[in-house]
Amino acid sequence: LSENSIIEHGQPEHSVITTCAYCGVGCSFKAEMQGETVVRMVPYKDGGANEGHSCVKGRFAFGYATHSDRITTPMIRDKISDPWTPVSWETAIGFAAERFKAIQARYGKDAIGGITSSRCTNEEVYVVQKAIRAAFGTNNVDTCARVCHSPTGYGLSKTFGTSAGTQDFRSVEQADVVMVIGANPTDGHPVFASRLKKRLRAGARLIVVDPRRIDLVRSPHIKADYHLQLQPGANVALVNALAHVIVSEGLENRAFIAERCDEADFAYWLEFIRDPRHAPEAVESLTGIPAADLRGAARLYATGGNAAIYYGLGVTEHSQGSTMVIGMANLAMLTGNIGREGVGINPLRGQNNVQGSCDMGSFPHEFPGYRHVSDDTVRALFEVVWGTALSAEPGLRIPNMFDAALAGTYRGLYVQGEDIAQSDPNTQHVTSALESLDCLVVQDLFLNETAAFAHVFLPGTSFLEKDGTFTNAERRINRVRPVMASKTGKAEWQVTCELATAMGYPMHYDSAADIMDEIARVTPTFRGVSFDLLDRKGSVQWPCNDAAPDGTPTMHIGGFVRGKGRFMITEFVPSDERTSRFFPLILTTGRILSQYNVGAQTRRTDNVAWHPEDILEIHPHDAEQRGIQDGEMVSLASRMGATTLRACLSDRMPQGVVYTTFHHPVTGANVVTTDHSDWATNCPEYKRTAVQVTRSNQA
Ligand code: SF4
Repeated sequence: LSENSIIEHGQPEHSVITTCAYCGVGCSFKAEMQGETVVRMVPYKDGGANEGHSCVKGRFAFGYATHSDRITTPMIRDKISDPWTPVSWETAIGFAAERFKAIQARYGKDAIGGITSSRCTNEEVYVVQKAIRAAFGTNNVDTCARVCHSPTGYGLSKTFGTSAGTQDFRSVEQADVVMVIGANPTDGHPVFASRLKKRLRAGARLIVVDPRRIDLVRSPHIKADYHLQLQPGANVALVNALAHVIVSEGLENRAFIAERCDEADFAYWLEFIRDPRHAPEAVESLTGIPAADLRGAARLYATGGNAAIYYGLGVTEHSQGSTMVIGMANLAMLTGNIGREGVGINPLRGQNNVQGSCDMGSFPHEFPGYRHVSDDTVRALFEVVWGTALSAEPGLRIPNMFDAALAGTYRGLYVQGEDIAQSDPNTQHVTSALESLDCLVVQDLFLNETAAFAHVFLPGTSFLEKDGTFTNAERRINRVRPVMASKTGKAEWQVTCELATAMGYPMHYDSAADIMDEIARVTPTFRGVSFDLLDRKGSVQWPCNDAAPDGTPTMHIGGFVRGKGRFMITEFVPSDERTSRFFPLILTTGRILSQYNVGAQTRRTDNVAWHPEDILEIHPHDAEQRGIQDGEMVSLASRMGATTLRACLSDRMPQGVVYTTFHHPVTGANVVTTDHSDWATNCPEYKRTAVQVTRSNQA
């Protein structure tokens, strides 16, 4: 593809260093340009996260940025049944502001709110959450991280004191044992997976915890010591069993615990975990894992040297997602596997800027830097810098916004770069809520599924037009540099500022760098960050401030951010999503290498040829029972709804569990997912849905 591109456009004239807009690895690329045309994307050898490596998404799937589906003119309509009318920016922003103000005049300030995007830059996200708090006058702001890694934020901040992964990617080169839980790095985070496989080929031991036989388990070049093929939803029972074995066999690191952890919390937790109900033999049928494997894996993690945990959405997207994150933190503290290279608890973030969107204050209860809105001192700081009074009441989370919309108390929504009608669970519930709004403003590249319910469409910019920063899964702040002029004539943050101004709160910045300067002023962990520093150093990992002017690759060295590490009780509670006679199988979901999330970008590139449709993996035994042949169309039905997709007979899933991806709206896997969610954060339980699969009439 890149060679064809060079033949077509000629040799590059100049290049710009920027950052991939796909996964949370955050690879740096040299965009080689012929005028304003990208001739090819070359992985940048000095990129802090990728060191010259890349995958098929970052390298080849950038064509969506100039795809003919791009909308570049603002549009409005009175009702969602009306056709769109292209208008000027001034008219579109004025229309949105008047509708939002009318809603607030009638229903109160909290009747509107917004959702930020983990695909946008830190600067764009910061400005949206500021507009909602300062101009809208409400804390009704949430982020799409709600539906992926919000339990990471909860679990790690409660136990360690900060809402972030503990290591840089390079750290895996010092690991002796790697435990991969609920993540499929070869598809989801390919460049990190390459680094991991290199370490495994050099002799590191591997434990995989996943219901599916992922590539790390199947690869002929890697030998996983243990594949704990658990039943979806049994995570907490499993992590408790591992801790139980470590404690009952005296393998815990008492010196680390005495020096680094809260003693009273540990004593209380110790009593809990010693209970025989956590023994591997007691949870064998619940987890589906032989007790001997659980015992062996626990011993290896505790005694195999530096042990690191890397995890993904198979941990967080459960009704006990936060509990499982806490359970993994307990395990790391118990064995002293935290606070140095080669160890730690490392979330593999799905989107390019999940970490950043959370850091920038997108949660309804937290200002930038994870500080609670009810904290008078913190709020006073923001009131001074932003020059307006701010609400001390936490706002609505995304699922609560939908519920309130259906109840008639929430009537206006500003969505920045997220296709909630496709990505969020229980599609019928989401679309009914969107349909009930008086004003939905969508800021995006394409007329996506959500835009079908919008009254105002504000065209957004692709990563090739953005100036700003993304923060990857290792807290690395990377520069995103524009390689071409904005196709809409404006930066997204300018549009947000104009909306805030039209709402009666004048908001202006001269540049993205200007926004970062304000972020640094109000966020202690970003205090040393500036575009100048990033341009000099290439990238930096937060905290970056007076105490750590060069950034912080490894967290919690010598002490936890919260002081003493905190052991917490992790009682296993079964999911409310149960199988039944009518829905006897469990559906779980995941991604594939060539595609990205809801596919809005990758489906508009040549990558779509590698994965033209979502398919359902079903065990041959389950298929035979239903008379289903390989490649046949089947109906997938849950208590929520039904869809049709092609069956693929595969023993990658155990009997009783089926699997699909969610990249194509025509399949719409979220038609069947449910409203069950994590008890602490409302992160949806995407990974466990009771379903039935039957032959479909559809050819
Ligand atoms: Fe982009 Fe992730 Fe692939 Fe790197 S690994 S090129 S960040 S999609």
